Amino acid sequence: MRLLVVEDEPAIAADIAAALERAGYVADVVRDGEDAWFQAETEAYDGIVLDLGLPRLDGLTVLKRLRAAGVAVPVLILTARDSWSERVAGIDAGADDYLGKPFHSEELLARIGAILRRAAGHATPLLEAGGVSVDTRRMLVHLGGRQLALTALEFRALRYLVHHKGRVISQGELAEHVYGQQEAPDSNAVEVLIGRLRRKLGVELIVTRRGYGYLIDG
Ligand code: CA
Repeated sequence: MRLLVVEDEPAIAADIAAALERAGYVADVVRDGEDAWFQAETEAYDGIVLDLGLPRLDGLTVLKRLRAAGVAVPVLILTARDSWSERVAGIDAGADDYLGKPFHSEELLARIGAILRRAAGHATPLLEAGGVSVDTRRMLVHLGGRQLALTALEFRALRYLVHHKGRVISQGELAEHVYGQQEAPDSNAVEVLIGRLRRKLGVELIVTRRGYGYLIDG
């Protein structure tokens, strides 16, 4: 799952990105509203953490533009602690949830996890498909009651496929949501990654639709 973090204070941005990465997400960081608008409109994100007070273009305007352009990505806004009017304006503009600053990273992770789940219609953080369960909060994967040891990349790929179970995911889409901007993979990296997952999960779980991509059946 690839997230965009929009935050102009470098220390806060770095803390958010580090927390998200520890939780198994890929995080891209931008520091102003113009860059946020550009990135969010051109790249495919699973969710956005959006500070409202930003240079060049404020967060509320970014959010309104995205929604007006039909971008339905889940958005968690970061607001001033006691500003109820900011929270109301944000939710009216299309935010899915808000978090007042300062916040604890665990609350950020819980809230972002919840809005991503809701967007995909999942009721709990525990995703299941074909005998495999993925605990997205604790980053644990079980197969037939046995806990599996997955690398960070393997976990990201499996989580994305299970999150979208029943839908064919192209290699390009999977690469976009599994690798960060700094980790551009070579052309057969996704195939290699899927091969490693199949060795751990059994060959049947991830189906290859030749010419289209990969699928975990719901
Ligand atoms: Ca700010």
